[in-house]
Amino acid sequence: MNKATSSSAAGSCTLVGAGPGDPELLTLKAVKAIQAATVLLVDDLVSESILASYARPDARIVHVGKRGGCKSTPQAFIERLMITAVREGETVVRLKGGDPFIFGRGGEEVEHLREAGIECTVVNGITAGLAAVTSLGVPLTHRDHAQGVVFVTGHARTGAGAAEDPTDWRALAATAHSARLTLVIYMGVAGAGHIERELLHGLPGDTPVAVVQHASLPNQRQVATTLDRLQAGIAEAGIASPAVIVVGDVLRGLAAAVLPADGNRFGT
Ligand code: SAH
Repeated sequence: MNKATSSSAAGSCTLVGAGPGDPELLTLKAVKAIQAATVLLVDDLVSESILASYARPDARIVHVGKRGGCKSTPQAFIERLMITAVREGETVVRLKGGDPFIFGRGGEEVEHLREAGIECTVVNGITAGLAAVTSLGVPLTHRDHAQGVVFVTGHARTGAGAAEDPTDWRALAATAHSARLTLVIYMGVAGAGHIERELLHGLPGDTPVAVVQHASLPNQRQVATTLDRLQAGIAEAGIASPAVIVVGDVLRGLAAAVLPADGNRFGT
């Protein structure tokens, strides 16, 4: 049995991070787990080329994301499917974009399987925020610009009023400003206007911002702007989900050559 896979009474279950998209950013453990899988439950943001390259031809592949079927498969259904397959003796791999424990509901899945008596092994993946920033040639931390990083979801805002938004963006902005932290916002494109307005309460309008779509993939696109033009910059560049928004002074050194000149408002 593969070392990256833990066994239960019957089959086994491994939660695997598929990374941001580029198959070469998979870990060796991820590749081994995918190659060993007899059943793969696959999220939306996982590249088809990963399955084409590494899944066994006879593996049962179930797409459980929004783009695989008509609607997103309910979480409870996915978990039931995993439990049943493990009990039937299958080598189950749950393949998630990026890292399974960064906004992937991986924690919930591990908990629910544990309640059913099944221990899951987790294989890390490169999270989208990390790949996005690296693709721009800038670091997430820098001794002169950023002492740390915050990964935060912007999703809670979508469709909800500001009052229902559980993220205290103003507090976050004030902390990011005083403690010099880079903000990496996942699922934030739809709520960009709200996020921009709230962050401006604690961060200067000329704080550099980059928005990166399809990080690490051949169709990657990005725009560089400033916080006071976050929403406008996204609209002008036509950037949509999946994208991460990066906010912070680490982007100041971003070479103009890396980004399209028309989208690059901040200098060096
Ligand atoms: N577990 C994943 C995140 C899942 S949440 C990870 O660690 O990366 C889904 C969000 O991740 C998207 O809305 C987007 O904000 C981000 N995302 C995932 N893949 C991406 C990519 N290739 N480029 C940019 N953002 C991406």
